[in-house]
Amino acid sequence: MSTIQNNIEHIKGLIRTAEEKFSRQPHSVQLLAVSKTKPIEALEQAIASGQRQFGENYVQEGVDKIHHFNEHYNQTELEWHFIGPIQSNKTRLIAENFDWVHSIDREKIAQRLNDQRINLAPLQVLIQVNTSGEASKSGIDHAQTFALAQLINDLPNLTLRGLMSIPENVSDYASQLAAFEHLKNLQLQLQQHYPQVDTLSMGMSGDMQAAIEAGSTMVRIGTAIFGERHYPTAKE
Ligand SMILES: *Cc1c(COP(=O)(O)O)cnc(C)c1O
Repeated sequence: MSTIQNNIEHIKGLIRTAEEKFSRQPHSVQLLAVSKTKPIEALEQAIASGQRQFGENYVQEGVDKIHHFNEHYNQTELEWHFIGPIQSNKTRLIAENFDWVHSIDREKIAQRLNDQRINLAPLQVLIQVNTSGEASKSGIDHAQTFALAQLINDLPNLTLRGLMSIPENVSDYASQLAAFEHLKNLQLQLQQHYPQVDTLSMGMSGDMQAAIEAGSTMVRIGTAIFGERHYPTAKE
């Protein structure tokens, strides 16, 4: 078994254990393998161990991988999630290639993704919420989430599935849990208006436990699967 396969097995074990510990339904937490900066071969190893959902941060790199696997892989089971910051001049490539987008944080981006999603199943989208106040530059404020949700709900080529956040990097469990519970509460409010909302993308390697306790349905794990990233980090 390769290191990547071992890592995936290990993380899945941690997820299953956390589900049990926090009385979550078995398999209610999915693993998104964050493969940014990693080569095709690394993704192939993950696929060989059953991984099907991949997260990418850089548009062109992600699109190149999607095209590669569309051509060379004899199944369409793979699911591609765009999780990085979105510039408005990149929305077309995202709309034309990805299955999910986690990082919608303003109306203009939602509108453009909708308009550029043509002849494909609706794009499954999450609103990225800033749960850390001024400590974080990314994500929409709590109070503006509902207006953005309403706009997305009116767009035919987008399906609102939930919320995502990247909380401030803190190591104490209570603070991690508080940020995640904040997002969970927001999701409960959204679900009253939009019953199709079922996804909470929260939790990374260092705060996965707290995220699962608070109700995460998708944890985004990169380094713990693929190892350290070695090339351009300037854009991160
Ligand atoms: C890179 C990234 C991850 C994964 O981070 P690791 O520390 O490598 O596990 C998760 N979510 C987002 C939004 C990221 O950009």
